[in-house]
Amino acid sequence: MIDTVWEDFLKIARQEIGVRAVETWIKAVALYRYDASTARVYIKAPNAFVKDWMQTHYSNLFTTHLPRLLNVPHIHLVFTLGSLEEDSIIIEPKSTVIPARSTGSKEQENSLPSKPKIGFAQSLEGSRLNPSYTFSTFVVGQNNSFAYAAALAVVDKLGKLYNPLLFYGGSGLGKTHLLHAIGNEIIQKQPSKIVLYQTSDRFINEFINAIRFDKIHKFQAKYRAVDVLLIDDIQFMANKEQTQEAFFHIFNALYDEHKQIVFSSDVLPRHLGGLVDRLKSRLEWGLIADVQAPLLETKIAILKRKAELQGEELSDEAAAFIAQRFTTNVRELEGALIRVLAYASLTGQIVTIDIARKVLGDSAPQQSAARVEFNGVIKQVEKHYAYGITDLRSKNRSKDISLARQVAMYFMKKKTSKSLREIGDYLDRKDHTTITHAITRINQMRQEDKEFDAKMVLIDQELEASN
Ligand code: ADP
Ligand code: MG
Repeated sequence: MIDTVWEDFLKIARQEIGVRAVETWIKAVALYRYDASTARVYIKAPNAFVKDWMQTHYSNLFTTHLPRLLNVPHIHLVFTLGSLEEDSIIIEPKSTVIPARSTGSKEQENSLPSKPKIGFAQSLEGSRLNPSYTFSTFVVGQNNSFAYAAALAVVDKLGKLYNPLLFYGGSGLGKTHLLHAIGNEIIQKQPSKIVLYQTSDRFINEFINAIRFDKIHKFQAKYRAVDVLLIDDIQFMANKEQTQEAFFHIFNALYDEHKQIVFSSDVLPRHLGGLVDRLKSRLEWGLIADVQAPLLETKIAILKRKAELQGEELSDEAAAFIAQRFTTNVRELEGALIRVLAYASLTGQIVTIDIARKVLGDSAPQQSAARVEFNGVIKQVEKHYAYGITDLRSKNRSKDISLARQVAMYFMKKKTSKSLREIGDYLDRKDHTTITHAITRINQMRQEDKEFDAKMVLIDQELEASN
């Protein structure tokens, strides 16, 4: 239960304080324990610095939302370094009134002390581009050189060479950065072009509002007027058939006029559940460029570049130390760097390995194993089959849902150390033979169906990568 509470909390936190702050600070701690009898919620931090920072900046966020998620009137928040009692400070609930929306300013809390925040240039306003994501701030390594080259080529030959271009790869590997870089470069070089960046969930909302307020023509006109359309995280369109339909028409109109379209997705369109076939095939018409996880040297280069952009210097050794502790996700890497820089700046020191160790700890990044494992599987299944936890737990036995459920069971057994019974409990299945049955069936399908097997290999790899 605590796993899902934490996941839900992270979701809310992302909306309230932004993805960045969540990656930097909230993900540095874990929901360690919840004691229902005393209503104490223990939040474990890797060191005193993070603990203090969380206390000052984010206590409100926790006391505002956790009670609701835990279904209790209030909680006592306890920040701890692990040993439960001695070093913990209890935060009493301030009030049970839930303030509307904000618990703090988004920008303020995730930027470094004394560092001005980077604003959006006025001229970029309409394009929704973030001016700091450019080609020059992007570090090229063998993991992303193909995607980088494709991005440059697209700018050079708008609408003529690779159309659409699709960036594909795991979370935090630079897809969004590249989309913005394309847009920023075009605005620079060809200011007459109309560039529009949009995430697909924003697109969906816009579409829904357009329907609701009878503005569908305006909506379509807006998108059809662009020269370059950059759509991020296309996977969110899964199961939104009406939106897909609207998007399909926009796509065709732009494509026919040789307007450039660029997408990102964290899963290959053909493996994406809940996408109508004709849209799938459109997405695969052009070039698919994958972005992979950076190797150590690239991670070091990225860290040094990011520090430089903040006006800080980072030694090779300190960069290597930080880089080694984070396996794949560049966003997490950046979060770690920001924590280290914040500590150094607050204490007036320069960044050394010792300081990095102090802030990040010696061990691997903190994650509660159980949470990552079960939720990780659910996330993958949702991505590939477009059914979430509610469907998987339901009694619905339609063919599609059953298969998704069996895939979930299969990977829960394969990838976690949990017992059949625990898996059964988690998925609301009393009889654990359901799970053994699922495993047998998936194994059999893997042998008989090549394409299905490829999908299982992919899910397997993605689970590995996300760990
Ligand atoms: P994705 O969209 O793939 O989830 P993002 O583009 O949001 O990932 O990247 C996450 C963070 O990592 C961003 O702050 C981005 O600037 C940074 N990043 C990722 N790859 C690189 C890179 N090669 N060079 C510089 N920064 C990078
Ligand atoms: Mg992204």
